[in-house]
Amino acid sequence: MTKIALFPGSFDPITKGHESIILRALPLFDKIIVSIGVNEQKKSFFPLEERKAWIEQVFSAYPKVEVVTYEGLTVDLCKELGAGYIIRGLRTSADFEFERSIGQMNKKMLPGVETVFLLTTPEYTALNSYIVRDIIRHGGDASPFIPEQVDISGYLPK
Ligand code: ADP
Repeated sequence: MTKIALFPGSFDPITKGHESIILRALPLFDKIIVSIGVNEQKKSFFPLEERKAWIEQVFSAYPKVEVVTYEGLTVDLCKELGAGYIIRGLRTSADFEFERSIGQMNKKMLPGVETVFLLTTPEYTALNSYIVRDIIRHGGDASPFIPEQVDISGYLPK
């Protein structure tokens, strides 16, 4: 049976932390669908199409990785795409508490889907998209934190 996993998130923008989780999950699944969630209530910093294009560029050499955008529940997307797994990264105990409730609720809604957690590698524990956005917004050097294919030059302060 084909093992299809979703990796949902906002990826605003994709960071080296996300990249590392996807690369480590590659040997575990036949296909990884990076799924960019669109939340009407939460305005993103980078446009949706840009976020999608960046992830596609980062994984252009990996045919197992696809990128989609979606609205609504992750479990509905799992059903639509035939995914049996949801990948999530765990950085801290705060991540764990947050992920536990989402994972348990998702399990209740769609028992056939398993959430698979990968622990972040130590060098990426402190990394999140929020800090990266802040660095970019204030003209700092975000290059140590984002994959090299992500070109943020159009978003630096004038
Ligand atoms: P963020 O929390 O950075 O805004 P997302 O909401 O896009 O990121 O998160 C998508 C998934 O990626 C979540 O499972 C999150 O825990 C995971 N993730 C985000 N940053 C890292 C990191 N530095 N290391 C490991 N996993 C991460």
